Amino acid sequence: MRKSSPRGPTPSLIGGANGRPKRVDVGKLSHCYRCNKELPKGTSCIEIPQLGQAYSTSRRVCDECFERILTKTEDDLEKIRELLPADR
Ligand SMILES: [Zn+2]
Repeated sequence: MRKSSPRGPTPSLIGGANGRPKRVDVGKLSHCYRCNKELPKGTSCIEIPQLGQAYSTSRRVCDECFERILTKTEDDLEKIRELLPADR
């Protein structure tokens, strides 16, 4: 059987239950869902969409918490990259 090439867009592990984070302007006072820091109106913050729920919702995080999430994601990525054979 001929090996077929993958179809459709390449999935991303980040594009699962959480949508792709984006930077948004804070329209009204919000709070970081991690540290509860105030995200004052007129500033910007990172919004992480929550997918697969009955209603559209999202979480907002401050820059510091987002950086921690990113670092953790990079750690995790590094670990799962080891699943690939070393001679690639
Ligand atoms: Zn925070």
